[in-house]
Amino acid sequence: ADQNGETLVPTHCCFCGVQCGMYLRVDRGGKVFGVEPRNHDINRMRLCPKGINAYQQVNHPDRLTAPLMRRSRDEEFREVSWDEALDYTVAEIKRIQQTYGNDAFGLLGGASLFSEKTYLVGKFARVALKTRHVDYNGRLCMVSAAGANKLAFGIDRAGNPFSDILLTDCLLIAGSNVGECFPVMTQYVWGARDRGASLIVIDPRETAIARTADIHVALKPGTDAAFFNSVLHVIIEEGLTDEAYIAAHTTGWEEVKAKVAEYPPSRAAEICGIPAEQVVQVARTFARAPKAMAWHARGIEHHSQGVENCLTVINLCTATGHIGKPGSGYGTITGQGNGQGGREHGQKSDLLPGGRSIMNDEHRRQICEIWGIEESELPRAGTSMMEMIWQMQRREIRGLIGICNNPFVSLPNYKVVKEGYDTAEFHAQFDFFLSETAANAHVVFPVTTWAEDDGVMANAEARVVKHNKAQDPPPGVRTDTWVMCELARRLGAGDKFAFADSREVFDELRIASAGTVNDYYGITYERLEETGGIAWPCPSTDHPGTPRLFEDGRTYHPDGKIHMQVVEWHLPMDPYDDDHPMSLTTGRTVAHFLSGNQTRRLGALVEQTPRPWAEVHPSHGFRNGEPVRVVTRRGSEVFPALVTEAIRPDTVFIPYHWPVPTAANALTIDALDPRSKIPEYKVCACRIEHAEKI
Ligand code: SF4
Repeated sequence: ADQNGETLVPTHCCFCGVQCGMYLRVDRGGKVFGVEPRNHDINRMRLCPKGINAYQQVNHPDRLTAPLMRRSRDEEFREVSWDEALDYTVAEIKRIQQTYGNDAFGLLGGASLFSEKTYLVGKFARVALKTRHVDYNGRLCMVSAAGANKLAFGIDRAGNPFSDILLTDCLLIAGSNVGECFPVMTQYVWGARDRGASLIVIDPRETAIARTADIHVALKPGTDAAFFNSVLHVIIEEGLTDEAYIAAHTTGWEEVKAKVAEYPPSRAAEICGIPAEQVVQVARTFARAPKAMAWHARGIEHHSQGVENCLTVINLCTATGHIGKPGSGYGTITGQGNGQGGREHGQKSDLLPGGRSIMNDEHRRQICEIWGIEESELPRAGTSMMEMIWQMQRREIRGLIGICNNPFVSLPNYKVVKEGYDTAEFHAQFDFFLSETAANAHVVFPVTTWAEDDGVMANAEARVVKHNKAQDPPPGVRTDTWVMCELARRLGAGDKFAFADSREVFDELRIASAGTVNDYYGITYERLEETGGIAWPCPSTDHPGTPRLFEDGRTYHPDGKIHMQVVEWHLPMDPYDDDHPMSLTTGRTVAHFLSGNQTRRLGALVEQTPRPWAEVHPSHGFRNGEPVRVVTRRGSEVFPALVTEAIRPDTVFIPYHWPVPTAANALTIDALDPRSKIPEYKVCACRIEHAEKI
């Protein structure tokens, strides 16, 4: 403590997958009241507007400090004791499961939770609720990249650390508004450019990084696979492939080669709405660079062919030998703070801890032994987040607990989402603010913010970092861990949930991941404090971790090869017609985070960006601020126009952090990628009209 009795608690920002280091300032009364920069090697003292303001949520007047309950949605909430809220929730779980079966109750987690809590979400669903229906909001985030990574490399994480970006000669960023969504990562992007690297940006919008790129390809939304197939076509035609690398390290090359032969630049130009020369320019720049890297994010992943889009980028890196070297490789940028770690340890419907498959008998046996249950008791795979909503609409899932998510703003096709929740007979939500989704629940459990508990997150580099508790929770507030353990105890599974704190959960997680590709065994809280972060796999406590993958030329498939995959481009799921000739695409803005439940309450961020807008090209004749109605097959809403040449004339952009009546996700389509089940947020058919008023 300093002379004023104030202390600085080293921790990390709760927003976004960069996971910048920061200090939280704690006053002599033990309350968080500010933030200080921290010279952590991820961010070197830098923080973005979200990071600077994050601390303001901790003691915000909107914090929930008592459980809320009502037996019907027609009633007002009343504050109740923890016992009453827990007992009512357990009674409803038992009533629904005894009447309709265990799978009639579901659990939806979140990827902003610490990994310890995500581990508990998966275990709580399978062991206490005994349901197959558990999934999480990372299903809306990075699962397409995850699917592609597993298919190609047998491991689900970025191949290189951020610091490799500074070593590269050519950086390709596809579908990522880095400057606004991962602001501090921009230091690496512009650092590389300042050192002489070429910067290629693939994005329908001229974002901040696109403006500074050597090549900006403003392709039509939903055409990424055609573009990357065509880039590879040119690389092959011009003899720029790394044949020795391909021969030694890959499978599937001949099939990929045959497919991309069907994508000459003239075809890409027609599909993507770009000059054919740009395809050639990208191909030459990327393939000729001695070291090149590709990073992508939701822009290419939020599609009904999201997995395939990612695979076309992997094919590009692989065919040019740009894999697994300092300054050469491939990465995906996670959106949520724990977007990476949140999917590794079992809250995803098809996975068990350590990235094990819930359908693999050997994997099931291993986890049942750790959890102390019979294999026959462990449910099999359930469905994905959006599919669970459809099941709620059909009354197949009748009760739900949500933890750390806000689907009323974040899921596509709001009408369907609302109907699903309204059809559910019982819904409980854990949150620290009354989100739009929590406001529709029967029970709301007030839980801790990230500053009131210890835990780990894995950032976009797969580097595990330690968050430290800076203050005690306000009276009446409990940790998500405590609530899950208490519910489990009342459901009769208390002996499997006897965790006193996060450390005890983490130690079980370490054991549950040991021996897998996703190995955390060697990572301890003490080591994280000492090192500032360790990248998994880390199989023993003297192992340094694995910042860069594939350095020995081997992947995590049994044959050690990169499995290249054939991709055929297809049209987006929402067809264009005379009534809906344009593309609507959605995304984030620098001042807000995901559903906005946190950032829409923080004064400086609200002042910076108080409301959403529709970005339209000047050719449509709108003036700035004039009302523009955006119409899709799901509905229509009116936004102020932001008239800009930074967007294609055939495309409209709306940021999605707000609820109805200005919710981008009231307009988006609930079409899913068949493999990753990610919704197609980044393209649906729309038209725009002049409107009377906003
Ligand atoms: Fe937080 Fe991400 Fe901003 Fe860093 S870049 S301060 S992690 S929101």
